[in-house]
Amino acid sequence: MELKSEYGLFIGGKWQKSSDGKTFEARNPANGALITVCAEATAADVDAAVTAAWQAFPEWKAKTNAERAVILNKIADVIDANAPLLASLESQDSGKPIREATIIDIPTTADQFRYYAGLIRGEEGAVTKVDANTMAIMVSEPLGVVGQIVPWNFPLMIGSWKLAPALAAGNCVVFKPSSSTSVTALVLADLLADILPAGVLNIITGAGDKAGQYILDHPGIKKLSFTGSTAVGYKVSEAAGKRLIPATLELGGKSPNIFFDDCNFEKAIDGVQLGILFNQGEVCAAGSRIFVQEGIYDKFLAALVKAFKKINVGNPAEFTTQMGAIVNEQQMNKVLGYIEIGKQEGAKVAVGGHRLTDGEFGKGFFIEPTLLEGTNDMRIAQEEIFGPVGVVIKFRTEEEVIAMANDSKYGLAGAVWTQDINKALRVAQAVESGRVWINSCSNVPAGIPFGGMKQSGIGREINKCALDHYRQIKSIEISTFESPLGFYPQD
Ligand code: NAD
Repeated sequence: MELKSEYGLFIGGKWQKSSDGKTFEARNPANGALITVCAEATAADVDAAVTAAWQAFPEWKAKTNAERAVILNKIADVIDANAPLLASLESQDSGKPIREATIIDIPTTADQFRYYAGLIRGEEGAVTKVDANTMAIMVSEPLGVVGQIVPWNFPLMIGSWKLAPALAAGNCVVFKPSSSTSVTALVLADLLADILPAGVLNIITGAGDKAGQYILDHPGIKKLSFTGSTAVGYKVSEAAGKRLIPATLELGGKSPNIFFDDCNFEKAIDGVQLGILFNQGEVCAAGSRIFVQEGIYDKFLAALVKAFKKINVGNPAEFTTQMGAIVNEQQMNKVLGYIEIGKQEGAKVAVGGHRLTDGEFGKGFFIEPTLLEGTNDMRIAQEEIFGPVGVVIKFRTEEEVIAMANDSKYGLAGAVWTQDINKALRVAQAVESGRVWINSCSNVPAGIPFGGMKQSGIGREINKCALDHYRQIKSIEISTFESPLGFYPQD
């Protein structure tokens, strides 16, 4: 598979230009190099994609679970077979280190398709005996054509969280990647062209407020699934509400990473780094609020400063690079802006705090791994920064840290680090979030539900419950009684 110098929109199994011919460039945020050119979809293009998806729907819906499972497994195989290309493109397009794309993004993308293939292949039906003469069969039916919109931080991986269950359940899809990272979805469309029937998967590229909004507003879309910011999540919810269709929302986060005095010190230092530096901190579930108990605070912070200084920030294409480039200039400026806000609020820079501009860094958007010592009421602790910037906050007691952890509009994830199992389970249950790790963080394997409480979203993904987001139940009630119903006696 070769990367093309220009991609159109993938509609009804064919590539076509945008109806007004407009395009945008995909560039590498580490060095500014042009990767390819993508099409800017119009409302007419989205309409064509929805029409193509409905045309494909009867045949796709009619396939048995066993047939769809075979196809999903083929998708996983083709992703694995093209893993080096996909990892390289994901890294070039988003700025993430090739090491992370290779170890995490691409294998977990393939795994999602295998996971849902296994689920539907092994699925059993439900029958209820209502009374001696009545029984009911519950049948799950796909919704039809669904619209899926994903962010730029894990383009293929989060794409698979949506595509795999939607396709497994028998829906056809109109899918839009972020305009900042559209490349791998387009390459995937090419890879799947001979595997999926035409029209089952349609890829629309373009700006969120244009192509994305056209998907939200299209009357032919029967369900919306969105991962992105809480601000856009409101728009998705509004569009779904207006047309009375379901929406799954995976939104922002400001997750507490809680370190008690009795934590495994060395492992915990790793946990802070994985929590806030993985993918340059551009992670919805990033452990961005680092709560450290007073007994270890000074020693812990000193060890963190030393560790953060050692992080190998650099060319994402090198396998030894531990932290790459921020996805684009706008996001870099947002992150740098928050560092300034933190300083103005009285936070102290413990390490980092600057853009890197020396030599090759000057061609891209790089920020030092950064820790700010602050308090939970500061904007830097309440608002999502979405970069390699952790806020370190000292606490004294278990009660105090639970209160601070929950003093947030978000509720996506959290982690607690202690060797006391009772304390770990108490805190894990008290933290208001959809996922809590104990002595670990950032891991999101298929099968374990992921999603947010509070302003972090509605619904759960990467688990069998996601299949139900893409289906509706039909109850078929059967009477075996031969006599009249008896409700209107005929003398
Ligand atoms: P974003 O909300 O700006 O964009 C997400 C997607 O929505 C993109 O494809 C964008 O083009 C599209 N979009 C933007 N405006 C739109 C509109 N008016 N109508 C329809 N679509 C529109 O988010 P982002 O900057 O790409 O990603 C970062 C955000 O995503 C962060 O807030 C992060 O926490 C969140 N996120 C959440 C999860 C999760 O699972 N909860 C995972 C990853 C990222």
